[in-house]
Amino acid sequence: MAQTFDAVVVGAGFAGMHTLFRLRQMGMSAVVIEKGTDVGGTWYWNRYPGARCDVPSLDYSVPWDPELDQQWNWTEKYSTQPEILTYASHLADRHDFRRDIRFSTTVTVATWDDARGLWQVETDKGDRFEAPFLISAAGALSEPNLPDIPGIGDFKGELYHTGRWPREKVELAGKRVAVLGTGSTGVQASTAIAKEAAHLYVMQRTAQFSLPCASPPLTEEDHAELRARYPEHREWQRSSYAATSMNIDTPFGAHAFDDPPEVRFANYEKAWGNGTAALVGVYADVSTNAEVAQEVSDFVRDKIRAKVKDPATAEALCPPQGTYVGTRRIIIDTGYYEIFNQDNVTLVDLRADPIERITADGVKTRGNFYPLDMLVVATGYDAVTGPLIAMNITGRQGVRLADTWADGPHTYLGIMVAGFPNLFTITGPASPGVLANVIFSIDQHVEWMCGCIEHMRATGASTVDTTPEAEAEWNAHAMETVASSLRIHDENNWYMGTNVPGKPRSVLVYQGGLGFYRDRCNEIAEQGYRGFVFGYADEKVTA
Ligand code: NAP
Repeated sequence: MAQTFDAVVVGAGFAGMHTLFRLRQMGMSAVVIEKGTDVGGTWYWNRYPGARCDVPSLDYSVPWDPELDQQWNWTEKYSTQPEILTYASHLADRHDFRRDIRFSTTVTVATWDDARGLWQVETDKGDRFEAPFLISAAGALSEPNLPDIPGIGDFKGELYHTGRWPREKVELAGKRVAVLGTGSTGVQASTAIAKEAAHLYVMQRTAQFSLPCASPPLTEEDHAELRARYPEHREWQRSSYAATSMNIDTPFGAHAFDDPPEVRFANYEKAWGNGTAALVGVYADVSTNAEVAQEVSDFVRDKIRAKVKDPATAEALCPPQGTYVGTRRIIIDTGYYEIFNQDNVTLVDLRADPIERITADGVKTRGNFYPLDMLVVATGYDAVTGPLIAMNITGRQGVRLADTWADGPHTYLGIMVAGFPNLFTITGPASPGVLANVIFSIDQHVEWMCGCIEHMRATGASTVDTTPEAEAEWNAHAMETVASSLRIHDENNWYMGTNVPGKPRSVLVYQGGLGFYRDRCNEIAEQGYRGFVFGYADEKVTA
């Protein structure tokens, strides 16, 4: 016998908690289904050594609990994973969220019943739920991308994907450890593991640009200053490009080559020392003009050469010519390049010496063998679409989401898919998602979705859907926002889906900026939800 609710929400991270908070306010009943044993989502799963947020702590907190803004004390500029998880847990306590969450439970099937106008959801625990609304708050970076390397199943040592790090303490001391992958995660994990492991092999396929992030302690004054103006700051975040403060001195929209070289380099230097991703925002054209990007990228290469003592290692750590800083998600680190000056750290350049196979006791490359006690797989995620497809969602006329997206995802505003009525995809494909401070991408989606549900209640609509035409228009616009960016040329980039072998290339993350996106979504709502199709219990359908 199915249990019935007004909404089934999948995921109890910041998106699931915000959704539950708002649905309760609207007097709706909801069940939240969560794979983990507690709340926190990304911050629950990514408990690998060194995990830390690359958005300043004072910006990376929920805007829907302003009282908590006045009370919560963050300890440093960029919070570590344990601190963010404590914050998420505190939110759950404060709002008594856990009573509506089914933990350690995974959605296995979700099917739209058109005759009854509701979603039927099944879980691995054998639960059956029915609800008119299905809301995915399953996250954008939650489905691990596991490398298909010959022999990986033969490895007899400890093997961990960073996104599934154990809750129990993992002992690193005295062990020979390899970290496979040098994205944000691999860089953070390597920096921390180098402090404890007997030996660390950093296995790098593509060198990336990493910027230093100083994370000084936050003082009472830092908090007091922002507390006095938090409401305005939240509004600024909501309307800004990425909802994160970078303290850039150059005027907004400034072009690099309008300044002489000495001014440009002084600005790069200041941004470098700023401890954020400011180097990419210091001029408007760092991510669009290849000549500017080349200059900034060479500036970073020189910094790498200055930090790493062994010239061959330094050169191998320099991203190849033709790649630019900022085309991938910016990596920020707390002393990554410096670990290569330690005797217990070796860079393994997989371009020069590719992996042949993994054996019971290590990694065999073409020219070497690396004996290991532990292999840490930091190979990223089947981003954005992966978690949705994993739910086995079937919409109208028996169409499976996996099939309709076989050639790449298509959505309207990143929040709705034609033929999948009443399914809202929080931070879905072609919405700002993790390009911005994700708490604010979530905020915009949840608030907009709740506005849409309120509209349905006010007008007596029982379903909301969209059309292939609206999706095509949105996807063309999303493509436009990336067309001028150098990012589009970068291969193996999860923003474009190309990090997963066989995954179609598409715009997974809207690049026009959060504030601009928000205005567009609001305009569409004001135009009577242009592009959405509402259905009514008496079968009348209006566009
Ligand atoms: P990622 O950026 O996709 O990086 C994956 C890494 O694994 C790359 O270095 C990739 O090399 C390598 N790799 C993949 N398959 C491989 C294979 N078969 N053999 C060898 N190497 C392989 O993933 P991520 O580092 O987990 O980061 C994903 C996103 O999570 C970030 O961009 C960011 O948005 C978020 N994140 C944020 C933070 C933070 O807030 N500080 C921290 C961690 C993650 P190639 O480049 O050659 O493909």
